[in-house]
Amino acid sequence: MMKAKVFRCANCGHIIEVPFGLPKPSSCPKCGSPASLIHRMNPGPPGVGRE
Ligand SMILES: [Zn+2]
Repeated sequence: MMKAKVFRCANCGHIIEVPFGLPKPSSCPKCGSPASLIHRMNPGPPGVGRE
């Protein structure tokens, strides 16, 4: 299984998976929201991790 970073667009809820080694997407590929609306999702248990 490949590891990937998971981001979610706060505007449309689109899930964006980015392989490790690639940068955070600069915009949502679905709705075009800027990176400021794209938040990293922690793949671990809820409540763990830092904002
Ligand atoms: Zn979006």
